[in-house]
Amino acid sequence: MSDSEAVQEARGDMGATAPINLLGLPLARMQILFAELGEKPFRAQQMLKWIHHAGVTDFNEMTNFSVALRQRLSEIAEIRPPEIVAQQDSVDGTRKWAVRVEGGGLVETVLIPDGQRATLCVSSQVGCSLDCSFCSTGKQGFQRDLTAAEIVGQVWLAINSYDAFQSGKGRVVTNVVMMGMGEPLLNFDNVVDAMDLMMEDLAYGISKRRVTLSTSGVVPALDRLADVSDVSLAISLHAPNDELRNQLVPINRRYPISMLLDSARRYIDSRSDKKRVVTIEYTLIAGVNDSTELAAELAELLQGYPCKINLIPFNPFSQSDYTRPSGNAVSRFWQVLVDRGFIVTVRTTRGDDIDAACGQLVGDVVDRTRRSARYRDSHKPQPVKMLG
Ligand code: SF4
Repeated sequence: MSDSEAVQEARGDMGATAPINLLGLPLARMQILFAELGEKPFRAQQMLKWIHHAGVTDFNEMTNFSVALRQRLSEIAEIRPPEIVAQQDSVDGTRKWAVRVEGGGLVETVLIPDGQRATLCVSSQVGCSLDCSFCSTGKQGFQRDLTAAEIVGQVWLAINSYDAFQSGKGRVVTNVVMMGMGEPLLNFDNVVDAMDLMMEDLAYGISKRRVTLSTSGVVPALDRLADVSDVSLAISLHAPNDELRNQLVPINRRYPISMLLDSARRYIDSRSDKKRVVTIEYTLIAGVNDSTELAAELAELLQGYPCKINLIPFNPFSQSDYTRPSGNAVSRFWQVLVDRGFIVTVRTTRGDDIDAACGQLVGDVVDRTRRSARYRDSHKPQPVKMLG
């Protein structure tokens, strides 16, 4: 039997003979695939449940499929999660993974438990091209976009890491933020497919209020997002004026603050739920953007804007000269905003003992690989626990 158009489309850029990784197929595309195989649409629903509810990756374990169907699936498809190469556990319960993807690239995924909530920070690209001045990932340059399977696969591996598929242990992941490595809107289609699966009841069933896409400001893509997704939105602002933001977030030179805030407002205004607001992310860097004058300017900029503000004290990393502001500086900045009536949270530092700054675990693994080549026989203690 020759491969159908649906099979070829599902393969995407992976080549004519590559197996389709079913992990990243949203329901609609899974249904098309099964229809092309001559199967009823409910088979697609069963497949999603096997993969995302039961964590099954072997077609032979799918006992409600005929032997012939399992055989055909094994000829054209696979279910392949990304591979964990390193894992770190913080004393505060934060767990961080370095994940190897097709072609050898590494990305990071972090799970941050907080009471009843557990937020998974998911990566969308290997590296990043946008080179924000305070970002460890930006220093690594851009390698490639992740596939939808590699993005939603980070949710899969987090659950699997706790042996929690069908175990009755409760939900390992209650919230997702697309805030790991990469700019999600520069990998638009794959990120939208992956987020669809995160929200799909037959997969992870996470509410649209609990799946958040964070962007540094790719305005044309943000305008498109309103037509195809209903996730929550966060803007990485980090400065109240274009002069400063141009230095911190270079894409601001192309899409300045006013364009970005207007686009985010259009997104929010087009939601059926009128209570939605934009989360404004503001990384506080000592002596750069943490003065009370800049806090007042930020308050002026956002007056009347439907938002809440999340202040993130900078996490220092080795290639950066920036430093974290003092607790007093963070409090003063926070107070100015609160006094102007804003809802403001300060991200508490989590996972400090496992290098909380995004991109650092990957840096450690890459660095370890290089050192290993040079010092093959040395037994220096290493900060990461290698799994593979
Ligand atoms: S902050 Fe985000 S958009 Fe900017 S370089 Fe880092 S990963 Fe890329």
